Amino acid sequence: MKSKLMWSAVVKCDKRYDGKFFYAVKTTGIFCRPSCKSKTPNYDNICFFENATDAIEQGFRPCKRCQPERSIKTFDPQQEIVDDSIIYLKQHYQEKITLNSLAFKIGVSPYYLSRIFKKKLGITPHKYLEIIRIHKAQRLLLNTVHTSTEICFQVGYKNFSSFYRHFKKIYGCSPSQFRIQNGKRNREPLLKGHKKS
Ligand SMILES: [Zn+2]
Repeated sequence: MKSKLMWSAVVKCDKRYDGKFFYAVKTTGIFCRPSCKSKTPNYDNICFFENATDAIEQGFRPCKRCQPERSIKTFDPQQEIVDDSIIYLKQHYQEKITLNSLAFKIGVSPYYLSRIFKKKLGITPHKYLEIIRIHKAQRLLLNTVHTSTEICFQVGYKNFSSFYRHFKKIYGCSPSQFRIQNGKRNREPLLKGHKKS
């Protein structure tokens, strides 16, 4: 796709279009930002890309001068640690997990893990684990006939009072009230347990 607007941005080296699209020159195999001050290419030899990744995938090399590849999202090791932790918590929420044991599995210090978790998500790993557990409990309440106490242990709580407290904090009512209030719409699946037609 070529548009007059894009072409005129390239001719004028218009900075306002940087990041909105990239142009590549077929004869040189190089791609640039619209604002690049390199020699204006021949219209017939250029093609446009929405992002730098696409241009690289098509075999173009980034221009040394305007470094268009720099807009590609850079690797974020802290995000990677948070993502790995979330995967681990979602797979092991039924087990006993402490900040120390989680940090050990991920391979960082507990202090560091807690700090970057708060920085990225605004909550501690433990708080995140509570949310996973309560959401699982909520689903079990609506889709199984297990009692609140059974569900409490199934989702990894060691005592009912903390389960009750956390549930109420998130849903504003007790687990059994929640089931009564929200189960009516789903009476069929409630009675049939997990079965779905
Ligand atoms: Zn360039």
